[in-house]
Amino acid sequence: MKRTPVIAGNWKMNKTPAEAADLAVALARSLGGLTGVEVVLCPPFVSLPAVGAAVKSTRIALGAQNIHWEKSGAFTGEVSAPMLAGLCSHVIIGHSERRQYFGETDASVNKKVKAALASGLTPIICVGELPAEYEAEQTGVVVSWQMRGAYADLAAEEAARTVVAYEPVWAIGTGKAATGAGANAVIGLHIRGMLADLYGSALADGVRIQYGGSVTPANIAEFMSQPDIDGALVGGASLKAPDFEAIVQAVFKAKS
Ligand code: PEP
Repeated sequence: MKRTPVIAGNWKMNKTPAEAADLAVALARSLGGLTGVEVVLCPPFVSLPAVGAAVKSTRIALGAQNIHWEKSGAFTGEVSAPMLAGLCSHVIIGHSERRQYFGETDASVNKKVKAALASGLTPIICVGELPAEYEAEQTGVVVSWQMRGAYADLAAEEAARTVVAYEPVWAIGTGKAATGAGANAVIGLHIRGMLADLYGSALADGVRIQYGGSVTPANIAEFMSQPDIDGALVGGASLKAPDFEAIVQAVFKAKS
């Protein structure tokens, strides 16, 4: 099955709205007309309107980095899926930094995935093992567990609208990326394999699965040469226009 690659830039807690708009304008100029590759920019909440304005009438999509699972209520500091639905099309859910610093669990990830889908947002569901789990060769167990948790009680029609990002935590922001073959094995066996167990292989074959963790213009081709990797979730390198452009162009070349 031919899947359209999806490259998302996770800007994390970086850039003011004005700085974010500048970066988005540069990317809109260079990447805005690209077909055959889905590009998603995920700035902080406060920059969604500015980045949205910059990429309007281009093919670049917009995503948030988190949501709350409730629609509204007494949840100071939180933002809900219906609030975002008019502003963006994607949302990153369960990033390892949210699991590490904000206490997110597989159960809260599951609630957020359902909330995103109910509002028509595409969740980019992050899974990946911690350094100690990697050392203990527990990657398969951990990732399978996270997948089961994220997709608990999700109908096939809902699962088909998700994107998964396999992000080994030891590779995020460290400069120590996984190997293409290593990431492909985890994705094929434990992510696409789990989706096949849960929903059948036809559905699993259609879900896009990204690799994330120290992706750069120098290593993206290695990941894209793998059969089960459909793009990347990019952190640090997504903050520099030339690097992100080079990554997206490499993906375009690899898969077209
Ligand atoms: C991320 O934060 O999702 C990420 C993959 O970061 P980096 O590319 O900087 O490793």
